[in-house]
Amino acid sequence: MEEHRVRILAIEELTHDVKSFRVEKPAGYTFVPGQATEAALDHPRWRDEKRPFTFTSLNEWPQLEFTIKIYDDHQGVTQQLGKLNEGDHLMIHDVWGAIEYKGPGTFLAGGAGITPFIAIFRELNRQNALAGNTLYFSNRTDGDIILKDELEGYFGENVHHVITRQEDTRFERSFLDEAYIRANIRDFDQHFYVCGPEAFVEDLSGILERCGARPDAVVFEK
Ligand SMILES: Cc1cc2nc3c(=O)[nH]c(=O)nc-3n(C[C@H](O)[C@H](O)[C@H](O)COP(=O)(O)OP(=O)(O)OC[C@H]3O[C@@H](n4cnc5c(N)ncnc54)[C@H](O)[C@@H]3O)c2cc1C
Repeated sequence: MEEHRVRILAIEELTHDVKSFRVEKPAGYTFVPGQATEAALDHPRWRDEKRPFTFTSLNEWPQLEFTIKIYDDHQGVTQQLGKLNEGDHLMIHDVWGAIEYKGPGTFLAGGAGITPFIAIFRELNRQNALAGNTLYFSNRTDGDIILKDELEGYFGENVHHVITRQEDTRFERSFLDEAYIRANIRDFDQHFYVCGPEAFVEDLSGILERCGARPDAVVFEK
């Protein structure tokens, strides 16, 4: 198994509980947008506690970037990541992952499940090839939306923010449930990309199948 010790070069707060980490890129380290690696803290207590995180940078960038939701309410790895500073180190490993762009379609993301799509959208934007794609992004509150301005810049009217818990949201208050999907999506003969918490991915996979999407046209992280 590959193992690289990489230095954290920059940390930025994106929302109240999401941070981006720019880290050194090991020589020859490449990935396909949408792929992930396992990361751990460089600390004897934590080095074996590896967790998967997706690259939100592109291969062309001189550094790697991760965009990470910090769960401060339990004693896991992300709580520790939230305490790190520039100059600290992470351990990163092999590259893997199932989400890969296969052609224009509809992206359905829940919360931090947007991360593989960020890399894909950045790459499509670089190639001037975003046309024909639509994003439905589900979050609890308006303040949970990661990289809202960047996503709106890419998609304009084709980004739909769906807010589940905030009464006075300035977006649509709904769930990405079957009624919403049937009311908003007409064409099920296209690619679908689904990423989010396990229950989100399971629910949407079932909904898309019942709506007539071809199983081989639905890409999701298993
Ligand atoms: C392929 C892949 C790529 C991923 N990429 C990213 C990414 O780019 N960015 C990102 O932010 N995440 C990503 N994740 C999710 C990320 O790996 C998890 O959030 C992380 O492993 C959590 O580690 P932890 O030790 O902090 O939490 P763990 O203790 O491992 O808990 C994991 C989950 O359980 C829940 N949980 C457990 N206990 C509690 C508790 N007491 N209170 C509240 N919630 C609890 C949390 O919701 C959390 O999601 C990815 C996952 C996969 C499979």
